[in-house]
Amino acid sequence: MAARDGDGWVECACGNKHWGLNGAAGIMIVRGHEILLQHRAPWVHNGDTWGIPGGARDSHETTIEGAFREAIEETGIDTDLLTPLLKRASARHRRKQR
Ligand SMILES: [Zn+2]
Repeated sequence: MAARDGDGWVECACGNKHWGLNGAAGIMIVRGHEILLQHRAPWVHNGDTWGIPGGARDSHETTIEGAFREAIEETGIDTDLLTPLLKRASARHRRKQR
């Protein structure tokens, strides 16, 4: 277990590469009728686009822990102010078998 041990690309059975050796976690932060979006730097994957905070999940993290860590790193938000309403996991994308 190490911080940032999830960073890396995975070759997926769908034919694409995805970021996150242990999967990824993201968080949609909603307040009233507003959603918090971030503008990605031009030099990152999907750069110069808008998205929700998120990224690669470390091996020791739950999905919520990974999503909260990413939200702190990317927005500086105090996650004590957040209340998870819904957790959704998808196994649609799987590592390509070699
Ligand atoms: Zn995929």
